[in-house]
Formats: sequence, C-alpha cells, structure tokens
Amino acid sequence: MPSIANRSFMVLTLCVAACSAVPARGSDKLRVVTTTTDLAAIARAVGGDKVEVTAIATGYEDPHFISAKPSYMMAARKADLWIRVGLELEIGYEGLILDGSRNGKIRVGTQGHVDASEGVLRLEVPTQKIDRSMGDIHPLGNPHYWIDPLNGRIVAKNIGKRLERLAPEHADYFKERTASFQRELDERMFGRELVARVGGGKIWALVLKRKLDKKLEEPGQPALGGWLATMKPHVGQKIVTYHRSWSYFAHRFGLVVTDELEPKPGIPPSPGHVADVVRRVKAEGVKVLLMEPFYSRKAPELVAAETGISVVECANSVGGQPEATDYLAMIDNIVNRVSTALER
Ligand SMILES: [Zn+2]
Repeated sequence: MPSIANRSFMVLTLCVAACSAVPARGSDKLRVVTTTTDLAAIARAVGGDKVEVTAIATGYEDPHFISAKPSYMMAARKADLWIRVGLELEIGYEGLILDGSRNGKIRVGTQGHVDASEGVLRLEVPTQKIDRSMGDIHPLGNPHYWIDPLNGRIVAKNIGKRLERLAPEHADYFKERTASFQRELDERMFGRELVARVGGGKIWALVLKRKLDKKLEEPGQPALGGWLATMKPHVGQKIVTYHRSWSYFAHRFGLVVTDELEPKPGIPPSPGHVADVVRRVKAEGVKVLLMEPFYSRKAPELVAAETGISVVECANSVGGQPEATDYLAMIDNIVNRVSTALER
C-alpha cells in the first residue's frame, strides 16, 4: 500500500497528465468575445465563472460604426467563442476583425461563432427590394432587437446552448444560470407574484397571443407588476426618436414612434427634415424625444426650442449610462427614464 506522501504524488502526476491532455484553452475558462456590451452582459450572466468575456464596442459608442482596431483582432485571436448581434449590425467591421484574428475557431458557421439573433422576434423586415437610396436599411430586419426583453431572453438561451456544446462538462451549470437569468428577467417584466403564480414562459405565450389582459381579469390573479405595469399607463403615447433604434422597445410597451430625426436610418438630420418633424410634433402633441447619448444634441435641441418637447437621453446598451450596469439594469433604466418623461 503506497504511503500518503506517495499517494499524493500519484494524484499530482495523474492530474498533470490529465490537465495537459485538455486542449489548450489557457485557463479552464472559455474565452468569449462579443461585439456589443449587451451580448457581453448576457454572456456573463449565463456563463458565470466558467467564462471570461470581453466586448469589442463600449456601450457609449454607436454600434454601427466600430473601427476594426488591431487590439480587437488580438482579443478575437484568443477567443473560444465569438458572439455577434447579427442582422447585419456589424457588417462594417466583423469580417475585418475575424479575418485579422486568424482564428479559425470563430469563423462564421463554426461552433465558435454565435449569431445571437437566431430565433429572435424581428421587426421591420423589408418586403420590397431595398437599395442605398433608402438609407441604412437592413435586409434581415431592424438589428436593434436586444431592447425587447423577450429577445434578451432568447439571446440568453442561444448563448447558453452554445456554451453547453463548447464545455459539456458544465452543461448543467449553464442551464441553471440561463434559467435563473430568464426568471429574473420575467420577474422584472411582469412582477414577482405573477411569475410565481403563472410562470414566466406561460406569461410570454399569453403576451404573444394578446391574451394577458384577459388572464389578468380572472378572479384571484395577482396584479401585473414590473416594467409592463410601469409602462401600461403610457400605451398609445407618441414619441420621436433620433435613430430607428427604439422600434422594439416601442413595440413591446405599446408606444408609437411618429418620426425619427434622421430622415433615413443612418443619415444625419437635415434642416428640411427637422422642420417637418417640428410641424408634426406640434400637430400631434408629441412630448418626448428619445435619443442615445452618443448622438449630437444639436437637432434635438432645435426641435425642443420650437416645440417644448423633452429630450430624453437614454442608453440602449449596457455601459452607455452609469445606471446601465448589466442587461436588466439597462432595461430598468430605459423604463424609468421613458416612463418618467411621459408622465410630465
Ligand atoms: Zn441602426
């Protein structure tokens, strides 16, 4: 029988042998690189301490226009998993970064490449042939889908599933974390009591069938809470936005976007178009102009001076404002700012 010292030596030797047999991942954490901070936040929530996540963009820059810096290619070179928003949001730089990374593991179509948009609810999918004259229209639909909490839920599932495949030894861990992220999201969306009684998945199904209101009228149901309850008094209210990046938020919470300051997506406001917007804001009594903090305030202030509309700066990416510390806090921040502005 080997002595205790001998046995520990054997264990150590076995461990060294086993560890060196594992393909080089550097540490045992999966290295995840995402294009945006929102994807990074969701990947962190789902991957926990089994992942090391880096985002290419910061939350306070325009995600359409990221330059393909060598440092991004270096980050991608070491990645086990690359996650993009998709729907062509990153069309201007993703290819350059991936090519520059020379990392075959994360090429489009491989196990190490996730398009987070798979299965999300898509809006504004063009039905006609599109061309350059229409501005920055995306043929697969509006790519700003992550500010619909339903899509945040789907993105978490997409990321969780891929992590499970890349590190099957942690599959249960990723499953559990995905479920708890979704549960927290559902509770913030509908209120804790309702989720406990009806179940998050079931409530979303009712929402999609437009049957939630009916369900809530049933005797003994807990009242609606969360973001949906906060936004409910504002259903049907009109807003103007700077870019066409709020469609999903408006759709989910029943707001109506009457105009964008950009005459066409991605085309800066022109004096003629701003004058048109001013006329319509006055005619329709629109009270709120919603914009990301990285756009110029020049045109918004002009409209405000003419109409009294309140300009609300609001980050729709994690890190774009101090409050937007993670995905759920980012949605929280939007709901708080928009509902407060609409109450005035
Ligand atoms: Zn856009």
